[in-house]
Amino acid sequence: MMMKADKKNKILVVDDMAINLELIKNVFALEENFSLVTVSDGKSAIRKAKTNYFDLILLDIMMPEMDGYEVCKILKSYPTTKNIPIIFLTALNSPKDIKKAFQYGAVDYISKPFSVEELTARVNLHISLKRTTEELIEAKRNAEAAAEAKAIFLANMSHELRTPMNGIIGMVDILKRTELTEAQHEYLNIIESSGENLLTIINDILDLSKIEAGHMELESITFSLRDELRRVMNIMQIIANQKKLPIILNIDNDVPAYVKGDPVRLKQIIINLVNNAIKFTEKGNITVSVENQDTKDGKVRLLFKINDTGIGISPEGQKKLFQSFSQVDKSTTRKYGGTGLGLMISRNLTQMMGGDIGVESVEGVGSTFWFYVFLELSDEESYKKQHQEGEGADIDKTPVHVKLKILLAEDNKINQKVAVLNLNNLGHQVDIANNGKEAVEKFENSGYDLIFMDVQMPGMDGIEACKKIRELEKKSGGVKKIPIIAMTANTSKDEKKKYKEAGMDDYVSKPFKQKELITLFKKYTV
Ligand code: ADP
Repeated sequence: MMMKADKKNKILVVDDMAINLELIKNVFALEENFSLVTVSDGKSAIRKAKTNYFDLILLDIMMPEMDGYEVCKILKSYPTTKNIPIIFLTALNSPKDIKKAFQYGAVDYISKPFSVEELTARVNLHISLKRTTEELIEAKRNAEAAAEAKAIFLANMSHELRTPMNGIIGMVDILKRTELTEAQHEYLNIIESSGENLLTIINDILDLSKIEAGHMELESITFSLRDELRRVMNIMQIIANQKKLPIILNIDNDVPAYVKGDPVRLKQIIINLVNNAIKFTEKGNITVSVENQDTKDGKVRLLFKINDTGIGISPEGQKKLFQSFSQVDKSTTRKYGGTGLGLMISRNLTQMMGGDIGVESVEGVGSTFWFYVFLELSDEESYKKQHQEGEGADIDKTPVHVKLKILLAEDNKINQKVAVLNLNNLGHQVDIANNGKEAVEKFENSGYDLIFMDVQMPGMDGIEACKKIRELEKKSGGVKKIPIIAMTANTSKDEKKKYKEAGMDDYVSKPFKQKELITLFKKYTV
């Protein structure tokens, strides 16, 4: 858009009759804030409009050589002139002519002979409309820039918040394996569970920001619903055992064995609801059930119900559920803790899966939270194929009990320590590279069995370093590819795709625990 030079409203008047130009000039000479440029033919009009800023064009239709319609068409097709409002000045005022004027992109028309009042009123109206539109476009652009900045800020925060958590949780994990008194062990358990609670809150806040910024993406992979649910329930039962609450899982027979969707996000909804059920129930039991409500067009509609025999929720309380940052009442927060984000995130996730969430509850009796989602139907064959692909066929098959020589690329000193202690603990030898460049150099000079690669490092980052290593392997013509595991705080779908494209075999998300490293070693070295 061409910039406006001064505060005056600049109007281009195009008419082949000198007398008309004179007339219009006189009209606006009486008005403040107007500056007029006049031309008497279409070609000059186009030249002027392309090289100067105008707020509005008054355009005659009947002119020799190039008529007003033609001029209008050309101006509307040119990027810097297409947004200038054009008002036709015309003696042709049959409905057909008027329709044609609008079709060519005019905002208005004034029939000749015109009244001075009408002319100035229409010009003022269209200039103020143009101003408002420009302000709205500017406001929209600013809002989009702000949303983008927020999303980038949050992605960085995600890394910044999780990095120190890696130090805390990782070190506690290591410390717990040393010789300790019973009291010390208990203190460490408290630090550990506080750290894990904090991590849950950080993750919830980040999830919600991601949803709000429209950056949340769902995976589409084949999984076994029964296996995933059983696994989740086993973990939840450990928590429920502290209150002696049995969790009963009922999956209807007609629920398909294999479905396609995002198992992690589906489990997140279920974990949220079962966690709440445990939190707000003192005696009785918790039942989780799954029904097939409909199967058609390759999709299944599944209804999940999580029923508890807990404190229940009042009708007023139920109305407030599923809204951001809302808990049923303030005393709940004091007594049970929590951020009030869980249900909000769950609602968004169910909606992203084409479904919805709700509750039926009676105070003092219990609650049933239900949600339904649509998942694609899949089969065992796709499941197996996907697992084979994920496993990586050309991975080093060293047995796990062998002492491995590992290269750790990580710039953060605390995280280096956490990883080295963990890996030494498991009996492996570790060399450290402080950045991507060092990692590539070290890889070239000595033989390693496996590389752990931090993704965000100064200078050459993990992605680039991995690409370089894969290039070097290709050049040397070897068939053996070293397993490279990304260590990252960012496990969004986009990021994971990036890791894979760079040639990484897998990732471990920070903060990680020794258990997770053992699982990885089993996967990549047995
Ligand atoms: P929070 O992290 O606070 O638990 P949620 O969004 O998961 O956040 O839950 C919001 C509120 O809904 C809770 O604080 C509680 O008041 C109420 N609530 C959720 N589930 C239950 C339940 N099963 N029984 C009673 N109240 C519940």
